[in-house]
Amino acid sequence: MDSIIDAKDLVHEYSRRDEEGNVIGINRALDGVSLQVKEGDFIAVLGANGSGKSTFAKHLNALLTPTEGTLYVGGMKCGDHSSDLEIRKTVGMVFQNPDNQIIANVVEEDVGFGPENIGVPTDEIWMRVEEALKNVGMYEYHLDSPNKLSGGQKQRVAIAGILAMKPRCIILDESTAMLDPGGRKAVIDTISRINKEEGITVILITHYMEEVIQADHVYVMDAGKVMMEGSPREIFARSGELEKYRLSVLEAVKIAMLLRADGIDLPRDILNEQELVDAVAELAGKK
Ligand code: ADP
Ligand code: MG
Repeated sequence: MDSIIDAKDLVHEYSRRDEEGNVIGINRALDGVSLQVKEGDFIAVLGANGSGKSTFAKHLNALLTPTEGTLYVGGMKCGDHSSDLEIRKTVGMVFQNPDNQIIANVVEEDVGFGPENIGVPTDEIWMRVEEALKNVGMYEYHLDSPNKLSGGQKQRVAIAGILAMKPRCIILDESTAMLDPGGRKAVIDTISRINKEEGITVILITHYMEEVIQADHVYVMDAGKVMMEGSPREIFARSGELEKYRLSVLEAVKIAMLLRADGIDLPRDILNEQELVDAVAELAGKK
């Protein structure tokens, strides 16, 4: 098996309880999810609010137990809890709110916290911290207080903290949702480069269509099921279906993709009108 993630008919049900703890209903948050991720791939999971994305992410980090079906992470079976620690070393998770992930008062200590926790020797921790901070472009801030950083910079520090644990896979669960457009772009560019240069598997979870452009493969979830899958271009072309799942494609992104399909040499990562205008102007020699 050469998949780093292998989910088969994965089901997750949450019990709803009243004040006394009696079960009063069941929420089927994952309803038979099957997908495989090859080591080194960059995949995106798209879906509107409540579609089951975070529930799926939590399974990948052994934070929940499958109700039905099977899930293997790095060849380890999730759900029997004997490999939970190894699974969490294999898959690092970056969450939505950057403020909840900052633990220390100095950036470099924050990045060193994860490796220290998993027992990495002290000398090696500092090497890893420096390397990870350089990798996300935040080394110049290593002695600063994380509180002074922007949201996008904090998320890059959080990514450095994960990288310093040397996981094989990184999951970003809506990690850009609270950032401004510049911060979002910096985080997506960072993660895309880490995927290409370090070969780390990336699972990007988002409800922003334009963020999935750089992914190798996209899964669209709705009501706990994978409803669509394909390359970003294949997915973007099915805009009618996407709207059914409460997702919409920005016009500028669609146009850039169509132009590229016609052989026009535009960058792959155009996210909005202004970037499309700038790129076309540059091609036309007007910039
Ligand atoms: P997403 O991340 O795509 O917004 P979630 O995985 O958070 O979706 O939620 C999927 C479904 O499961 C939603 O209907 C949500 O209300 C429900 N859900 C999530 N967490 C819990 C929980 N702890 N208890 C009960 N229901 C939950
Ligand atoms: Mg979520």
